[in-house]
Amino acid sequence: MEINEYQKLAMRTLNPELSEKDVLINGVMGLCGESGEVIDIVKKHLAQGHELDKQAIFDELGDVAWYLAEIAEVLGFKLEDILQNNIDKLKKRYPEGFETEKSVNR
Ligand SMILES: [Mg+2]
Repeated sequence: MEINEYQKLAMRTLNPELSEKDVLINGVMGLCGESGEVIDIVKKHLAQGHELDKQAIFDELGDVAWYLAEIAEVLGFKLEDILQNNIDKLKKRYPEGFETEKSVNR
């Protein structure tokens, strides 16, 4: 599946009754909430003796992607452009791959 196809398919389940402002608010709150669900899984592993539930993280990362798509959609961005922009930025910052010195002295 192409990235922009994901965005289109995911947005089939966006509530059409929400205003643009409410979609943006729902998006940023949802993104933080779903990211928090990932954190909670790792926290249970690190601090509470649970097995690391990779499948649950796999599922939650999908939820993170949905809210990322929602925010992109309401702001008129394509997910593919956002991801490409991020890669371009990282290539500039770390042309030879990650280097601690380049991270410290950005
Ligand atoms: Mg979730």
